[in-house]
Amino acid sequence: MGAPQAFTATAEIGHYIGGRVVASASGRRQAVYNPATGAVAREVVLGSVDDVAAAVAAAKAAFPAWADTPPIRRARVLNSFLALLNEHRDTIAAMLTAEHGKVFTDAQGEVSRGIDIVEFACGIPQLLKGDFTDQVSTGIDNWTLRQPLGVVAGITPFNFPCMVPLWMFPVALACGNAFVLKPSERDPSPSLFMADLLKQAGLPDGVFNVVQGDKVAVDALLTHPDVKALSFVGSTPIAQYIYETGAHHGKRVQALGGAKNHMVVMPDADIEQTVDALIGAAYGSAGERCMAISVAVLVGDVADEVVAKVAARARVLKVKNGMELDAEMGPIVTRQALERIEGYIALGVQEGAKLVVDGRGFKVPGFEQGFFTGGTLIDHVTPAMRVYKEEIFGPVLCCVRVPDFAAAVQLVNDHEYGNGVACYTRDGNVAREFARRIQAGMVGINVPIPVPMAWHGFGGWKRSLFGDMHAYGEEGVRFYTRQKSIMQRWPESTAKGAEFVMPTAK
Ligand code: NAD
Repeated sequence: MGAPQAFTATAEIGHYIGGRVVASASGRRQAVYNPATGAVAREVVLGSVDDVAAAVAAAKAAFPAWADTPPIRRARVLNSFLALLNEHRDTIAAMLTAEHGKVFTDAQGEVSRGIDIVEFACGIPQLLKGDFTDQVSTGIDNWTLRQPLGVVAGITPFNFPCMVPLWMFPVALACGNAFVLKPSERDPSPSLFMADLLKQAGLPDGVFNVVQGDKVAVDALLTHPDVKALSFVGSTPIAQYIYETGAHHGKRVQALGGAKNHMVVMPDADIEQTVDALIGAAYGSAGERCMAISVAVLVGDVADEVVAKVAARARVLKVKNGMELDAEMGPIVTRQALERIEGYIALGVQEGAKLVVDGRGFKVPGFEQGFFTGGTLIDHVTPAMRVYKEEIFGPVLCCVRVPDFAAAVQLVNDHEYGNGVACYTRDGNVAREFARRIQAGMVGINVPIPVPMAWHGFGGWKRSLFGDMHAYGEEGVRFYTRQKSIMQRWPESTAKGAEFVMPTAK
């Protein structure tokens, strides 16, 4: 592959309302950084209550015609969008690297995983097929169908600025809803780019809108009477707030939160495969993935060998500007996030854990002002420590040593988060027991990051998800539609008089 082209646009990032880019009525703005250089690259507008009202009004006006459009024609628009996404995959990937910092090849993977959801949503005619029962009672048929909700909103995190919005809006639009996206203010460019691709694909104006911003815009969406449902992905405290506030305002809400994903390493695991998996899953995307492995649970006598081998690899990680094609890990998204991560490393030392590899203060030649940290490995972490309990969301792997399988399962199940989890073993029975007993929404057996494919749905348990339904897949279709049951009779003779008892099958 030749050198990818960097994303260097400097224009202010506005909203996208009613089919065009608009400036903010609020006048508030925020800097968007290039994390590799540490410099301000462009600015994003921060939406006001009026901006949200304008976006919701545009969506509400566009909804009836879009909802009435046959599903196959909606799918054709998504098919055209799919072709455009494939065509512009590297342009979007370069935007991700420029604003998030993740390495370009990983960014390409993010776009590809988002494209999977669009492919799934293109099958909407099949997915919306209802149930039909002929003759539920004499001369009566009953069927169910699923109808769109109206205006629905998505609020998304910084760490997947392309893929996580794509978890939401392709399915919502395919179901016939109009959508308002509030992307992360830290890496907002892909949202506008995708809005333009949707327009090129033939999506009518107003069906998809973007409001940039922060809490002000989120709160306006949470309380707006015309927003019928909210999908949120982000940290747990905000997820809980979104769920409770949205529900209080009568909305359907799915709110996916934070994580602390464990990987249990059994003594019989293939050590080389295990070490590869830990390195990629802990340090890939600088640990800024909700499915990153942040805790290695080392069972029995496997610990010393795994720690030594992971340490040797962590010390030589290629940490550099993500546009360099051999980079394994890029910078952290912001200086503030970098300081939080390095603060946790100091805390781990204070709490008595053993710092095996210290990534703090990492400098990349030529990028001295960039938000870089190296890979960090902490051993002898215990469940009482804050570095174990709290989400660090950076390239820091904590190792907890346990005596046996039962203790490993108990440790995972006692944690407040339950997003992803993995087990490395060669024993089929251990694997099966693990998958059945573990309290987490997504399980990998010898798979470190078991992000489900588009048709399976994504979601954690415990405080990693607030709400009933997972994102995308058939759960997504259910979330963005409501069921209607229709019972129909066409009497052949004249009326027989009113019936006052509960109708039963005759
Ligand atoms: P965040 O919670 O800070 O922000 C998420 C969204 O909420 C953003 O759009 C932001 O503008 C908005 N927001 C922030 N503070 C708010 C407030 N006080 N009131 C209302 N809205 C607010 O999360 P982040 O830092 O962007 O993303 C990282 C977090 O997301 C991590 O905790 C990670 O685990 C989580 N995450 C979870 C999943 C999942 O599927 N479970 C996926 C990706 C990321």
